[in-house]
Order: sequence, then structure tokens, then C-alpha cells
Amino acid sequence: MTRPRVVIAGAGFAGLTCARALKNAPVDVLLLDRNNYHLFTPLLYQVASAVLDPGEIARPVRQLIRPLHNADFLLANVTGVDFEQRQLLTDHRPLAYDYLVLASGSQSDYFGNASLVQHAFGLKNLDEGLAVRNRILMRFEEARWTDDRERRRTLLTFAVVGGGPTGVEMSGALAELTRLVLSKDYRDLDFDLVRVVLLEAAGWLLGTFAAPLREAARLSLEKKGVEVLLKAKVADVTESSILLADGHEIPASTVIWTAGVRASDVGSYLGQPLGRQARVQVLPTLQVDGHPEVFVIGDLAGPGPINSEGGPLPMLIPVAMQEGRHVAATIKDVLRGYGATNFLYKDPGIMATIGRNSAVAQLGPVRLTGFLGWLMWLFVHLINVISFRSRIVVLVNWAWDYLFYDRPIRLILRAADEKATRPK
Ligand SMILES: Cc1cc2nc3c(=O)[nH]c(=O)nc-3n(C[C@H](O)[C@H](O)[C@H](O)COP(=O)(O)OP(=O)(O)OC[C@H]3O[C@@H](n4cnc5c(N)ncnc54)[C@H](O)[C@@H]3O)c2cc1C
Repeated sequence: MTRPRVVIAGAGFAGLTCARALKNAPVDVLLLDRNNYHLFTPLLYQVASAVLDPGEIARPVRQLIRPLHNADFLLANVTGVDFEQRQLLTDHRPLAYDYLVLASGSQSDYFGNASLVQHAFGLKNLDEGLAVRNRILMRFEEARWTDDRERRRTLLTFAVVGGGPTGVEMSGALAELTRLVLSKDYRDLDFDLVRVVLLEAAGWLLGTFAAPLREAARLSLEKKGVEVLLKAKVADVTESSILLADGHEIPASTVIWTAGVRASDVGSYLGQPLGRQARVQVLPTLQVDGHPEVFVIGDLAGPGPINSEGGPLPMLIPVAMQEGRHVAATIKDVLRGYGATNFLYKDPGIMATIGRNSAVAQLGPVRLTGFLGWLMWLFVHLINVISFRSRIVVLVNWAWDYLFYDRPIRLILRAADEKATRPK
């Protein structure tokens, strides 16, 4: 007898967790992704800032699903869904499903600003992480060749746009890379010319954190040499400058964009209503209205599921993983003849690191800053990094970086020399 087939589009946190939770279910699982790897996004900024190699934060999906005897993987780009025929459309051929789980995540949002698309680097996938690393190191090499002081200043000004956790973490790591590591490599460069600027349109950093933690993060960044510009709205970016909405211009030849995110384009192929950030509106059970056999989870889903305060859920890993588990449980329940239940999110807290020795963490009523926050951040990320092997390698790299102020992965790789192609 053939078993029901569950097709899962996206092998990120939501999709992979769902596949794992279906391990012993009487179904065949087919997982699809346009990349052959699963990425541990929280440490992507460490690839971009030459702390870690890509292999330490990503694992082949085929390796990860090896213990799942009912699961298979196909590399494919999802291009749509035929709800009537119950087929997932791909760039290869349509795939029939009994249950469909859409988990294709999110992408950078440039809000239709062509200058950002052309000149700013996103930080959403491994290609972009490597492209940022290349760009930073290349700018230092180029700066060695010019005697024009202003040109040098422009080459050595790195702007990070967006004061959320990714922008805060990236700018902190970048300041430390330049001040603690590259200053020893480029002894002839005047490091007074090096600038790391963090721009945020709101009047504060880390908008989802409590006010004292936001302030602690700002002070900590400034102590590390990051220039924090609040109420700074980017209007235009060129090859060598950033123009702010108030007319102020900052010469900078590297701009890293972390200020906007929207759901993956897969959502727009469904013909379903989209909510804020182009997320697919789902029922509180995570099902698509009128198609109970189709589920949407992770960054792609919203605003149907609500958190305890009643707002839409944030784009975070715990949300994606809990939703993945919930949908797997629902599929098992439905197969046993029960109905679908509403998803309820349990918030484990949020945290962001600001380079060595400093982080902010908000875990229910517990608020941590500085060194204590950082120890908590290290612990949580180390236990969650993809595999036991990664844990060992990441720990060795962190210890090396911490003790010797050194980042051995300062390699410019030609394959990623160009700005990475943006995810479709
Ligand atoms: C730099 C960065 C740092 C972050 N740090 C944190 C953090 O510290 N803590 C936290 O909780 N959250 C963090 N997040 C957010 C977190 O990564 C997301 O909320 C989480 O990954 C969502 O899981 P998901 O499964 O929905 O999407 P993802 O994990 O992004 O997975 C989506 C998958 O779908 C695939 N895909 C996309 N489009 C297609 C297509 N058309 N066809 C086939 N496959 C496709 C992608 O390749 C990807 O593998 C961070 C995000 C970024 C970018």
C-alpha cells in the first residue's frame, strides 16, 4: 500500500524540523531546496567577518536527513503550486503531494530602491556572506594602492544599514576585525581612516528589546569604535557614497543592507492573500484557507499564528522550529482521524551579541548585558550549531580568535568575487 507523501519546500529551520518530526510517521517525506545545504543563519555574520568558514555553519541536507529512513531530498527551485492537481511546481517537473508544507523562508527587502539592489550587499545566504568577506578584504588591499587620502577613507568606510540583531552583530564584528586583526596586517595604513558606521532609521537600536538593553547595545558598539547613527534613513546608495533622506552624504564604498526583510517569492506564486512583509496569511492551524492539506510555516507564514500578546509572530528560528513540529504533529493527527489544532508559540527569549565580551539577552523576566549576556549567547549558539563536528570546530575558532586576536580565514576567494546573485 502506498503511503501518503508529504512534500516539504525548503530545508531551513522550519522545513528540516518538520521532516525530522515526521521520522516515525507512516508517510514518505520529500524535502526540496534550491541549495543543497541547511544554513545556521545566526552565525552568518561570522562568515562575513572572517571568523568562521562556510562549512562550519552549513551542512548538506542529504547528510542531515540520512537518519530519516522515510525521507528523501531533491535540489530544485520551487516555482508554484497547482492546488487543484495537488502538485508542487518546480524548475524540473511537478511533484505530486498528499500534504504540502511550504517553508521557503524570507529574503532581503530593498523596498524597490534600485540603488540598493545594485550597490548594497544583503546578508541572507552563504553566497552573500562570502561576498561581504571578499569585499571587506578587497577594500583593504585596494586602499594600500592609493595615495589619495579621501579615496582611502571612502574605501575603508564600511556602512551597515539596519539596527536589528543582524546589523548590530555585523557592525560589532566588523569593528573588531578591522581594529584588532587587520590593523596588524596593514601596518602602513592609517587606521584613523577606517570607519564602521551603523545606520538605523528609528531612534534606537534593537527595537524588539527592552529599552535598557537597546541602550546597552548602543554603548557597547560605540566602545568598540562603531559610529552609531540613529534616525538615519538611507535614500540612495552609489558606488562610493550613501545619501541619507535628510540630505547628509557619507562617503562609503561598502554598504551592507540588513534593514529590510520580506517573505520568499514562493508566497506570491500561491494566489493567496499576503500580509505584512509579503507573508502568506494562514489560518491559526498554519493551514492555507480552503486547502487543509497545505501548510505554510516559518518566515513565509503570517499573520495567522499569533503570539501570547496577540501580534504576528517574528521571523525567528524558535518560531520556525515550533511551527515545523506543530505541522508534523497535525499531519500525524489527521492521519489518525483527528482535526488540526491551533499553533501557540512559546517564546524562549531573544539575544544579540556585540563582538567579544558583550551581548544583550532578554529571556522572559531575565535581562542580561555585557559579559554575562555574552556567555549566555556563546552557550546557546554553541549547543544549537548544526552538528557535533561543527561545535568542536566553531569552539576552536572562537577560542583562537579570542586568545590571539586572529582570524585565519582572511581569504579573498575569486569565485565569490562578484556581488552574489540575489535569491529569486
Ligand atoms: C544573518 C541572519 C541572522 C539571523 N540570526 C537569527 C538569530 O540569531 N536567532 C533567530 O531566532 N533567528 C535569526 N535569524 C532569522 C532566522 O534565520 C529565520 O527566522 C529562520 O531561518 C526561518 O526559518 P525558515 O525555515 O522559515 O527559513 P530558512 O531557514 O531561511 O529556510 C528557507 C529555505 O528555503 C529555501 N528556499 C527559498 N526559496 C526557495 C525556492 N524558491 N525553492 C526552493 N527552496 C527555496 C532556502 O534555500 C532555505 O534553505 C537570522 C537570519 C539571518 C538572515
